[in-house]
Amino acid sequence: MNANDTQKFDLIVVGGGLGGLLTAARAAKAGRRVVVLEQAQELGGFGRSPELGGRPVNLGPHAIYLDGPAEKALLELGVELKGFIPGAAGFFESNGELLPLPTTALGLLTAPWLTWRERVELAWSMREVLGAPKAGVRVSDWLAGLRSERVRAFFASLIRVSTYCNANDVLTTKLAFAQLKSVLSPSARGVLYLDGGWQSVVNQLEVIAKQLGVRIRTGAKANSLSLGERVGGEGAHPRITLSDGTTLGGDEIALALPLAAAAKLTGDAALKTRAENAKPVRAACLDLVLKKLPKPERRLVLGLEQPTYFSVHSAPETKENIRVHVAWYLAPDDATDAQMERTLEAFVDRIQPGWRDELVGRRYFPHLRVMEDVPREATTTLAAPLHLISTVATTRFLFDAIAQSGSSLSLGERVGVREQVLP
Ligand SMILES: Cc1cc2nc3c(=O)[nH]c(=O)nc-3n(C[C@H](O)[C@H](O)[C@H](O)COP(=O)(O)OP(=O)(O)OC[C@H]3O[C@@H](n4cnc5c(N)ncnc54)[C@H](O)[C@@H]3O)c2cc1C
Repeated sequence: MNANDTQKFDLIVVGGGLGGLLTAARAAKAGRRVVVLEQAQELGGFGRSPELGGRPVNLGPHAIYLDGPAEKALLELGVELKGFIPGAAGFFESNGELLPLPTTALGLLTAPWLTWRERVELAWSMREVLGAPKAGVRVSDWLAGLRSERVRAFFASLIRVSTYCNANDVLTTKLAFAQLKSVLSPSARGVLYLDGGWQSVVNQLEVIAKQLGVRIRTGAKANSLSLGERVGGEGAHPRITLSDGTTLGGDEIALALPLAAAAKLTGDAALKTRAENAKPVRAACLDLVLKKLPKPERRLVLGLEQPTYFSVHSAPETKENIRVHVAWYLAPDDATDAQMERTLEAFVDRIQPGWRDELVGRRYFPHLRVMEDVPREATTTLAAPLHLISTVATTRFLFDAIAQSGSSLSLGERVGVREQVLP
């Protein structure tokens, strides 16, 4: 590429994470000439699965919601999703005790660790969750209205695991319940843990995108963006300048970037405010590979009072080098330090005593950024010809139910995923 590259694309996608790759492949499939610019040498962003203990291991626990728009979009592109459905059987951990996690409505209503009063309140509240919640009600306000502490902890735990958020003061019931329904509804197929990690999706998307004619440039950092300038004398087009000084012109630009990076590139005031006010969704993650599980029957454990998560991400028939993800859902202002790592290790000690003797690989992240902001009922959109594909949009798209209930996937149909504005 020379310093004044006059090649013009229909769509320039900035960011080669899952959001960018999906967008690029879908747009190319619709017949558009597309280029992807990725600043790193590798594609995939937070969707990569660096090797650990001889296995591809995701950066923290990742699951694909079945029957959602992400599964549909990936299958439409020809991506093969090989993995297993973990099943809902597992445990809550409450004050060091493991309580069986009910998997059916009947199981919920007969759980021996709930009093009859709690069961009645739970059944009553469940109707609300599966109904049509009003807009604008914070999860914290809804939880505060529940009488029983146990029932409150039960819903808080399920909301954490289904939305990834530990931010009940910001998250609304409309968004939380939509996600919860995708787990609790009798027709829900659940989630898929991918055998090759999410890297397998990244790799396939790269191949498919290239086959569809997408040009992919790694080591290409977008430094500035200008709108409406002439490129190659062919009319007004937006233009991207890379850090090495080269420029690219396109009819439209999709920013599949962190909010702050998108705000900086565009200079958009609303986006800047959004980035500044964002409450990032983060988790402290301990990724483990174990020779074998000391307690093979304990595959899923969710903290009832504490925001903890333990799940085995290798299929039950896997005999060696088993992937285990352990996490603490951080509240927006939570600090995290070395003590947190010890806390997570102690949690694993209680679930899988003797795990340290089985250790093949371990990786600890004090605060992985899952999404840059807690999903909101209304979000920012950019004026044409710019499109914003933030991590919130990507995650919501991947996470399924919320995106499905969004008012508009029309741009999604054109370029992939987009910020959703819910009705
Ligand atoms: C611990 C954890 C667990 C998760 N679990 C789930 C889950 O279970 N289900 C789910 O759906 N989602 C989950 N997610 C979220 C999911 O990983 C993200 O939604 C998705 O990977 C985000 O993709 P993205 O393309 O939007 O952003 P990113 O992955 O952040 O990609 C952005 C890319 O843009 C590049 N870039 C930045 N600036 C520039 C620039 N100026 N020029 C060029 N390139 C640039 C970056 O290098 C990066 O590659 C999880 C995330 C984490 C961290």
